[in-house]
Amino acid sequence: MITSFILPGQCRRHMIAPWHPDHPRRLDAIERQLALSGVARQLQHFDALPVAPDMLRLAHTPDYLALLADAADSDTPVALDEETLVNADNWDAARCAAGGVIKGVNQLFRNQADNVFCAVRPPGHHAEKAQGMGFCLINNVALAACYARRHYDIQRIAIIDIDAHQCNGTLDILAHDHDILICTLYQQGLYPWSSANENAPNVESLPLPAGSTGQQARDRCLHQWMPRIDAHRPELILISAGFDAHRDDPMTELAFDSGDYFDLTRDILAMAERHANGRVLSVLEGGYHLESLAPSVNAHLSAMIGLERP
Ligand SMILES: [Zn+2]
Repeated sequence: MITSFILPGQCRRHMIAPWHPDHPRRLDAIERQLALSGVARQLQHFDALPVAPDMLRLAHTPDYLALLADAADSDTPVALDEETLVNADNWDAARCAAGGVIKGVNQLFRNQADNVFCAVRPPGHHAEKAQGMGFCLINNVALAACYARRHYDIQRIAIIDIDAHQCNGTLDILAHDHDILICTLYQQGLYPWSSANENAPNVESLPLPAGSTGQQARDRCLHQWMPRIDAHRPELILISAGFDAHRDDPMTELAFDSGDYFDLTRDILAMAERHANGRVLSVLEGGYHLESLAPSVNAHLSAMIGLERP
């Protein structure tokens, strides 16, 4: 497999506060683990530049984008909520993250990569059409879906969100869009608590009780998602790759281990082989415990490359 690893340099400069869980150390930990394991040598590495402003309108309202741009120009950072902050560096990072996922989509459809992982910050899946929240400014996965459909000759896409928090932003942007199937697992009762769109016809919600293991989640995914995905026949699969369901992550109470991310990724790749010519674009969302984030991403990428389970 030719696997691209896109890490926009500006994403290292995204900083909300030294205490904030979404810290640049997350990318450092991932890169260190990939180097130590040897996985880094088997990836093709890319930087990415900011996305063109008009492109962001595929997923967000002009008023919201103007608010972000104005906030970035302001002398004082603007808080969208208690933990989501806009300043010039963070806005640049969000636009470069978006540029990274657009680059990834282009690589897949120009046969420059078999699959792609985007190591980006800030994350995206809580960002709604007109409202950023939950650390997220731009919804990278929703943007990738809208862009791929607009620029390439495909119609059906599946988004698989394995972050431990529900993807309210992705649902806000793409619920009721029948060409896009959204499969989302998450821990019951966590932020953002509920979405008005979680029962939309194109959404497969899989709320998991606290303490659920990766194997339990995977069994339910295979049982509940596989028939829907096979019926949908996606021509592209996007993964909202959050790793905060790991048992050591302090933000959640699920009990995945890093090997579960390998197994789950293999399942998703098999679906992509059946329907999408293997095309998978995976985009980093959450995962805040460095000692579990790094091996989990390593396991995820090992599966994408086609290596044995680490
Ligand atoms: Zn999360």
